[in-house]
Amino acid sequence: MPQKLPESLQSALDHFKRLPGIGPKTALRFIFYLLKLPPGEIEKFSDSIRALLADVNFCAVCHGLSAALPCPICADPRRNRTQICVVAETQDIYAIEATREFAGRYHVLGGLLNPPDGIIPDKLKIKELLARLAKEPAGEIILAINPTIEGESTMLYLTNLLKSYSVKVTRLARGLPVGGDLEYADEITLRDALRGRREMM
Ligand code: ZN
Repeated sequence: MPQKLPESLQSALDHFKRLPGIGPKTALRFIFYLLKLPPGEIEKFSDSIRALLADVNFCAVCHGLSAALPCPICADPRRNRTQICVVAETQDIYAIEATREFAGRYHVLGGLLNPPDGIIPDKLKIKELLARLAKEPAGEIILAINPTIEGESTMLYLTNLLKSYSVKVTRLARGLPVGGDLEYADEITLRDALRGRREMM
């Protein structure tokens, strides 16, 4: 930035820049857009963010974000308990639910392994997955994780870990957009990837 920005603007900029895929230029565009909104709109925007804090929490069973605790999927007695679909983030649940192909339950890791960025196994909900399995054995763990470098190393780590549990571990079939997020896969691609899932070695 050529000149020093007012403190409030710099602070807003720093927050917007932390959003995924947002650089300083886009962050500034957002801020100027917000500043030009009709009176009251910025307040509504900030209220909605504040409400997130108050209303949305992590489900103690699957660790997905939810307003109700446990989340509606964990609380639904019609969902089968023999399949657990492991995903990186809560939004991946929405993508898989949209396929209407899966009737089991989920487990949200809260990210993918990335040791250079400090994301080691302890930072993910892996211990919680093992504790869940010990309490309530499942027949199949579906790793619905995108095949990025981090995704592959997370799947490998989990597969090795799960060897000592008598559970089948499967992964989605190929065909997902490589490097993209699961949430960006279209429903048909994701449904086919679920149907064609294969067992990990
Ligand atoms: Zn849940």
